[in-house]
Order: sequence, then C-alpha cells, then structure tokens
Amino acid sequence: VRCDGIVQIYKAQDVEVVALRDVDLTIEAGETVALLGPSGAGKSTLLWLLAGLLRPSAGRLWMDGTDLGRLDQRRLDRLRAAHIGMMLQNPARNLIGYLSAAQNISFAQRAVRRDRRSASPSASPSAGAGRPAGPPARRSARDLLARVGLADAGDRQAGRMSGGEQQRLALAVALANAPKLLLADEPTSQLDEESGTRVIELIKDVAAADGTTAVVVTHDTAVSEALSRTVTIRDGRVGAEGRRGEDFVVV
Ligand code: ADP
Ligand code: ADP
Repeated sequence: VRCDGIVQIYKAQDVEVVALRDVDLTIEAGETVALLGPSGAGKSTLLWLLAGLLRPSAGRLWMDGTDLGRLDQRRLDRLRAAHIGMMLQNPARNLIGYLSAAQNISFAQRAVRRDRRSASPSASPSAGAGRPAGPPARRSARDLLARVGLADAGDRQAGRMSGGEQQRLALAVALANAPKLLLADEPTSQLDEESGTRVIELIKDVAAADGTTAVVVTHDTAVSEALSRTVTIRDGRVGAEGRRGEDFVVV
C-alpha cells in the first residue's frame, strides 16, 4: 500500500477541515502497523481511505499497482470485499447480533462468492488478475473460529457473546475472504487488557502466518509496541516513523 501526497478535506457547511495534509506513506506486505496519535489527528480518516470508504481530496492511494481513486464504485466495492477486512472499535458493530458465530462468517463469504460469480473477468482486472477462475482458497468457518479461539462457539448467537469474544469473532469475519489488508480502528479500546492483548496477538499471528498486512489505529502505546512498526500522525501529518529494529526515519 502506498500513499502519495494524500490530502483529505472535509467540508461541513462553510468550514473546511483539513484532516490529512500531504501524507506519504508506504506499507509493505506483511507489516503490522500501528497508527498512533492524539484524538483528531487524522487516524480514522487515513484508515477509512485505506479501506476505500473515502476517496482522497488529492493525492493517490496505490494498492498492488491499482490506484484506488481511479476505480469506479463497482470495482472499488469489489476490491474492498475481496481484499480488505475491517474491524471497528465497537465489537458489536462488526457483527449481525441475531446470527450465530458461524453464520456471521458464512454471510461474509457468501457476499463475495456471489459477487465473483456475477463479475465478468474483463470487468475486474484488479480482483481477478493472474488468478484461475473461481474463488481462491479460503478457510472454512470452522477453521476460522478455531483460529481465534472460538472453536466451540460456532452455534452461539453473536449478540450474546462478551466484548472480547465479539472482537475475536470480528477478526474471524474480517478474515473470512482471506484479505490482503486487515484494518482495525481501535479494536481493543472497549476490551479489558487481557482480551485486548489477545486480539492483538491474534492479528500478529495472522500477519505472520498468511502475510496479511495489518493497520491498527490505536492510542495505546502497549498496542503499538506489540506491532512491527509505528506510524505517528499529528495534526494531519505523518511524523516520526519507526520500524522496529531500524533507525527512526523522519518523513
Ligand atoms: P475517533 O477519535 O475515534 O475517530 P471521533 O469522536 O473523532 O472518534 O469521531 C467519531 C466520528 O465522527 C468519526 O466517524 C468521524 O469521522 C466523525 N467526526 C469527527 N469529527 C467530526 C466533525 N467535526 N464533523 C463531522 N463528523 C466528525
Ligand atoms: P482521529 O481518528 O485521529 O481522532 P479523525 O480522522 O477522526 O481523527 O479526524 C481528523 C480531523 O477531521 C478532526 O479535526 C475531525 O474533527 C475532522 N473530521 C473527521 N471526520 C469528519 C467529517 N465527517 N466531517 C468533518 N470533519 C471531520
């Protein structure tokens, strides 16, 4: 993922809020990045841009050679569904509360399968390039649940799970379509310390095992220290960046 001179401006009535000012940032595959910074710094805005939920006011956002800003809405939606998994701050908002844990996962998988079937190959260069027809190898709901420590919880109703369980299930749902990019907006802030640590450890495990790139918004330095790299945002600018084990580079 590469951000080239990203500017994000929100217009609210007569006022313009510049949320990101000329952000240049490259994130390599398999990195686990913490986006750290004070409230209002622009962390969520950057995450939403990476998720393809916002289009930048200026600058370019590259993902595997695709400029997200140039995709039409259909292709962008398809790329998002197939390659990007997202976890929101509020565990319950990631899930359909009246469905079981296993149904939450299969629901996410069905949406993409249907989409792949209806997509003609030529209409989807980014999602289908270099791949044989048909869905890519994907884990079953059972495997995904086992992975997040919920092997015996497949039949439980998502809405009745604890916050920590819901956030682990949210991780399994986010991984349902084997995304390349996992995005998480303060995934631990509503959890106790133990549950939060477990979620972060699971995200690290997934990145290590599958080469998934993870970007986690946080204001908790314990979370950022656990990940491979910290990107600090302040007042819409990317500040000191640290890759663990390397010198700090000031951008
Ligand atoms: P966080 O710090 O966790 O991002 P905020 O309280 O800053 O949470 O924002 C919550 C939501 O409100 C976000 O979706 C954000 O986009 C939106 N928001 C934040 N500031 C404004 C604003 N000045 N006008 C409109 N929406 C805003
Ligand atoms: P953070 O996640 O670091 O708290 P945000 O990305 O939520 O920061 O917000 C960055 C800036 O953009 C803040 O000044 C916020 O008030 C503003 N902002 C965020 N979302 C909106 C929105 N939808 N409309 C107007 N201003 C917004």
